[in-house]
Amino acid sequence: MVRPMYKTKLFRKEQLKFMLLNLVAFSFIFTIFDIIIFHEVQRTLFSKADHELEAFQDMITDQMLPRTEIPLREKGPNRNLSREGRQPNPNPRIIVLKWDEQGTIANENEIGTLLYENYFQTYKLDRKNLDVLTTTTIDDEYHFRTILFHNPTDESAVYTELLINIDAEYTIVDNFAELLWICSILFILLSITASYVLSKKMMKPIIHSWNKQAEFVENASHELRTPLTIVQNKLEALLVEPEEKIMNRFEHIALGLSETRRLSKLTTDLLTLARADSSETELMKQPIRIDDLIEEVCSPFMDIAESQDKSFSLALQSAATIEADEARLHQLLVILLDNALKYTAQQDEIQVKTYKEESKVMIEVSDTGIGIKPENTQHIFDRFYREDKARSRETGGTGLGLSIAQWIVDKHGGTISVSRNKPKGTTFKIKIPT
Ligand code: ADP
Repeated sequence: MVRPMYKTKLFRKEQLKFMLLNLVAFSFIFTIFDIIIFHEVQRTLFSKADHELEAFQDMITDQMLPRTEIPLREKGPNRNLSREGRQPNPNPRIIVLKWDEQGTIANENEIGTLLYENYFQTYKLDRKNLDVLTTTTIDDEYHFRTILFHNPTDESAVYTELLINIDAEYTIVDNFAELLWICSILFILLSITASYVLSKKMMKPIIHSWNKQAEFVENASHELRTPLTIVQNKLEALLVEPEEKIMNRFEHIALGLSETRRLSKLTTDLLTLARADSSETELMKQPIRIDDLIEEVCSPFMDIAESQDKSFSLALQSAATIEADEARLHQLLVILLDNALKYTAQQDEIQVKTYKEESKVMIEVSDTGIGIKPENTQHIFDRFYREDKARSRETGGTGLGLSIAQWIVDKHGGTISVSRNKPKGTTFKIKIPT
């Protein structure tokens, strides 16, 4: 089937939409993931420096030293006893700045002239981050974790600021951020490919069902048009001869009527399938003795077979009760029996069998009729498919019967298959779970 241009365009647009949506979703998830990982790595790396700063802050505030200088390391044999309750050694990584009210460093002698003149001469007091651990950069190059606080035990300064160099950690975080960027770009490139593949996969079933639906509507309109044209022609023919007796135009009327019946059957079948497609039809399941139902449905068909000089036999041995929709099973059997009668000739045989096989009920409807060509068996459940259109029309077929049969079997969780009957004819086998 040639797909019209506008449909291809429409599908492309939808596919692009799916692709963009996928891409946005992927990128969003990855960005969140990036942010969490980055912050976690940064937090872990900075936490050691932060602990050291906090311990130092505790040491110089809690111990209520009479003077607030950094406690001197103990000399002699007791120097390692700090863990046993003695005053801990001051952390050599930490720089202590004391700020006066004007925001100048009051202890420049203590921190050393070299350090002060090289780095802290231009360093400004930042009162905004009081009591908060932050990162600061000195000389645009050196990174420190820092905490500024009020030290009540120190009268020589208003604020005390502790700084600890984190250049090593910062380099790791920097490298990690770079790696994350590279990964993100790679990931976005990969997601573009993945989104394209996914959107193509997503569109496939949509295009398939769209095409099927379009084909169905096209076939349905075609099937409806033929009988309608015939009825219209016959009525017009009657209209041009109003004085003519009905008896003389009997053929026109009979044909018109048979086409109307055909139309009616066609619309009923179309409605059944349309409802099946939209999953509107729910089954009314109840326990059914399958052999009894089949016997009842077959009874009128046996009479018809007899009147057509065909033999009809039953071999019902399933003795099973299944949960099923009686009306739908009835419809299924009528479709198969109708076909069996339609595609057999005088002296042919029709047989209906039931039996159990591995906790499943098997229903077989076989005939010794014209059979189905092996190459066509795969198509006979397709909508509107008929092996011989002219013959099927003559017998009132619409090509929808077996599609409906398959839907009914599917709805009961079963399977339907077709095979060659020996020595000739066709066998339909239905398997329904009990
Ligand atoms: P139809 O209304 O044309 O019978 P179905 O869907 O019931 O439509 O069947 C589809 C086609 O399968 C038929 O046109 C016919 O060619 C083939 N078919 C179905 N049942 C039989 C049968 N018992 N013997 C031979 N051919 C059959």
